[in-house]
Amino acid sequence: MDEHRMAESIVKKVLELSGRRGIGEVIVNVGEVSGTNYNRLFAMLKLLSIGTAAEDATIRFNHRPVHVKCNCGYSGDAPVFGLVEKPIVECPSCSRGLCFEIARGRGVSLRDISVI
Ligand SMILES: [Zn+2]
Repeated sequence: MDEHRMAESIVKKVLELSGRRGIGEVIVNVGEVSGTNYNRLFAMLKLLSIGTAAEDATIRFNHRPVHVKCNCGYSGDAPVFGLVEKPIVECPSCSRGLCFEIARGRGVSLRDISVI
């Protein structure tokens, strides 16, 4: 995943939401199978915040588990195996790894900010 582009859009949104106030905390949702490198995303967010109202903000990542809708009827959280870059998601009900839709856990988005 492109952490630089993600960080750009998050910082832009943070600054839009905060107006001219200082920002205390930025909370970012990161899906379990988004393939995000946390360290890289953190570094990019810090870099792009320099000189802005978000410069001294605390950045927190909110880990979002994978949620699947399977053909067997199961809908809910599912375990993830394998590498961060190549995750394997398995339905806990029928143990299939492919025949379902990942309803949540793929993306990275801004969850919340707090202003000072
Ligand atoms: Zn299933």
